[in-house]
Amino acid sequence: MDAPVLRDFYGRRIRNLRISITDRCNFRCIYCMPKDPQWMPREDLLTFEEIERVARIAVSIGIEKIRVTGGEPTARRDVPVLIDMLSRLRGLHDLSMTTNGLLLKELARPLWKAGLRRLNVSLDTLREEKFVHIARRDAFRKVWSGLEEAQQVGFAPIKVNMVVMRAYNEEEVVEFAKLARTRPWHIRFIEFMPLDGEGLWSREKVVPAQEILDRIREAGLALRQVSQGRLTDPARIFAFEDGVGEIGIIASVSEPFCFVCDRVRLTADGNFRTCLFSHTETPIRGLLRGGADDATIARVLVEAIRKKEAGHGINDPEFVKPKRAMYSIGG
Ligand code: SAM
Ligand code: SF4
Repeated sequence: MDAPVLRDFYGRRIRNLRISITDRCNFRCIYCMPKDPQWMPREDLLTFEEIERVARIAVSIGIEKIRVTGGEPTARRDVPVLIDMLSRLRGLHDLSMTTNGLLLKELARPLWKAGLRRLNVSLDTLREEKFVHIARRDAFRKVWSGLEEAQQVGFAPIKVNMVVMRAYNEEEVVEFAKLARTRPWHIRFIEFMPLDGEGLWSREKVVPAQEILDRIREAGLALRQVSQGRLTDPARIFAFEDGVGEIGIIASVSEPFCFVCDRVRLTADGNFRTCLFSHTETPIRGLLRGGADDATIARVLVEAIRKKEAGHGINDPEFVKPKRAMYSIGG
């Protein structure tokens, strides 16, 4: 039987579901969280069984890829158990996780054993003191050893996400690009989006994709674009001319890719979002706990997807930030 095709009103095919499994985190990154976040009540968090059920229904209507995120997904107890459950879903083509890497030293192997094969690890600086400033936790060495452990265990290539911010870490772009040549890691430079928890974002703090590329080229590293940033991966991918290493750039602010966006999201408290910047959500937790059958939940998801927003509108004069910051949406 052909796989079902899920489309929104604009004809975009939706294949990608990001599932946040907790809003809690062991870091307090300045671009994501306030210093003292208000956590969701524990009883509101979906259980593993509820998450697996929504994932299974989503796959049955056409979702092909799932990324587990948060908050910090490894901060949720027994996360390998959930990975094991999700990796068994028939019809799911791709399962991945985004993590800050703090607990990878201990968890990389159990996650691999549970069936995870793709990892994105966030790292915004290679300097210990700056790490403390950005993540508001003294953990550079631990994250680094987590990355090495993940590499050792067999995750390849590991994608390393760097959020580039003016006056914070912009001067490290070239060093990060070089990491893509000395390690089996793909470096992905991400433009700073207005999803921070403390009003830090401003247009001036965004380092645009073009400037990131110019910095790398001016350092003598010739690049060749190998993919446009369409469909299943929002990153524009560049290879180094000499064939060693690869980088990606996610230019959500300077070159939005909403017209090809294929993503939807489930928050840890069971709300379905069709855009990072949505102002409305579709509550699913009540359906799960109120006895709704799978067909009803599938219909609710399909209907919400049909109304997916045309775009995030960050560059429109009337743009308004969503109420949730990144950690409580699921990046
Ligand atoms: N805690 C995990 C981590 O940090 O990798 C997963 C959740 S985090 C919200 C997911 C991704 O969103 C990370 O790569 C993080 O750097 C990115 N992110 C968070 N806030 C952002 C912002 N305001 N702009 C751009 N990227 C952001
Ligand atoms: Fe935590 Fe990830 Fe947000 Fe940093 S970006 S505060 S690690 S959820």
